[in-house]
Amino acid sequence: MTRETSSLRGSLAAAGRRLTRERDLLLEIIAKHPHSDAAQIYSLARSKSPRIGLATVYRTLRMLEELNVVESRHLGEGHSHYEMRGRDHLHVICSRCGALADVPLPIDIHKIARGTGFSIAQARLELVGLCPACAARDPD
Ligand SMILES: [Zn+2]
Ligand SMILES: [Zn+2]
Repeated sequence: MTRETSSLRGSLAAAGRRLTRERDLLLEIIAKHPHSDAAQIYSLARSKSPRIGLATVYRTLRMLEELNVVESRHLGEGHSHYEMRGRDHLHVICSRCGALADVPLPIDIHKIARGTGFSIAQARLELVGLCPACAARDPD
């Protein structure tokens, strides 16, 4: 175990109890509003728990990622969007406005796992282009 991982584990354990309420609140928000970024999650969290701070939201999101409950994706704009793990799907993404839609996987992961002997933890594939609104506005 490296020094980073052991101190991370220590801080997760220390943060675990303290952040339980925030953790539950953020999980509920992410489950209801997949693909939200930290700022959106923060404003949704504040409407339920007005005293929550932005730093706590960031810390809790990091912890949820470390616990493999939530995953973040960089959707081409430099900041992360969060969703629950285990929803295997593709994203179609507009490179101009960031519009995003979920698409079911066109492949059978379990079949590929059986065929290759790999244990597959998640699928990552993004199809990037223009959404209908952006394509209509500017066909280039
Ligand atoms: Zn667009
Ligand atoms: Zn998604």
